[in-house]
Amino acid sequence: MKITDKLKEEDFVVSFEVFPPKNDAPFEPVKNAVSKLSELNPSFMSVTYGAGGGVSNNTIDIASYIENDLDTMALAHLTCVSSSQDEISDTVNKLKSKNINNILALRGDIPKDMEFPNAGYYKYAYQLIEDIKSKDDGDFCIGAACYPEGHIESNNKEKDIEFLKQKVDCGVDFLVTQMFFDNNVMYNFLYRALANDINLPVFAGVMPVTNSRQIKRICELSGTNLTPRFKSIVDKFGDNPLALKQAGIAYATEQIIDLVANGVKGIHLYTMNKPEVAEKIMENISEILK
Ligand code: FAD
Repeated sequence: MKITDKLKEEDFVVSFEVFPPKNDAPFEPVKNAVSKLSELNPSFMSVTYGAGGGVSNNTIDIASYIENDLDTMALAHLTCVSSSQDEISDTVNKLKSKNINNILALRGDIPKDMEFPNAGYYKYAYQLIEDIKSKDDGDFCIGAACYPEGHIESNNKEKDIEFLKQKVDCGVDFLVTQMFFDNNVMYNFLYRALANDINLPVFAGVMPVTNSRQIKRICELSGTNLTPRFKSIVDKFGDNPLALKQAGIAYATEQIIDLVANGVKGIHLYTMNKPEVAEKIMENISEILK
């Protein structure tokens, strides 16, 4: 099944993002986590792709487990900047052979020593999307990333959104946002997107924060800003994991309620493979989603 079909059936979608095992780490803990997550009935589950593409088979295997064993629709992330076009073609064929019909087509972060132009390689996500679409069996539902606060490499939001429009026009079916902690940033982004004729489903990336070290690192890497309100929570409860977890769940719940109330049609929950966190949030919004 494709996410576009799901969108015809459901007024509102909640999706979960998970990550596959790293390198040679065991599969069982990840399989257990995704099994528990799938019992919460998300509309689909996405599986991240390791930076550099080195463990792409782990992404494919976990996505296949979700799609074929858990009977939950899977969205496989696919980054292109560190792989040749032939390697990507191979991965796309493997996804097709595993019955995975949804790809989040990404560029990935550019490795430090990478030089462009580099024949046979990709520089931007739109080139990957063009490539997948041009394949004879390229009948995939394609998602792409977007950045309400602007992409970290871009110092001009106007240009960033023009490039997003270029990417969308290559055949994107839906967008998933980078996490944000201030919903107004998302609403402003949606206005700017519409003003640039970007008119397709946008799923809001919500990250329930449960670990202070992790959040500082993620914000540094992605360029996401902590709101003063959220920063106070991290400052106050950063050394108390249980309190931070409770506060992170409450903050994410409030964010989601506000997004639903303001007409956003989809939430993409960055679960960090923690079913107990996703379960609490789903409980908190169970009536709201009815
Ligand atoms: P692009 O859309 O190609 O944009 C990258 C930069 O290039 C932007 O600054 C853009 O403005 C600029 N640009 C685009 N087109 C042009 C052009 N024609 N000319 C000049 N400049 C241009 N990373 C992983 O490694 N694995 C994952 O699984 C993963 N999942 C993600 C999921 C989501 C929802 C999000 C939001 C990000 C994810 N990332 C992941 C991170 C992502 O790979 C990085 O942010 C990466 O740096 C950009 O990828 P992109 O697909 O958005 O790139």
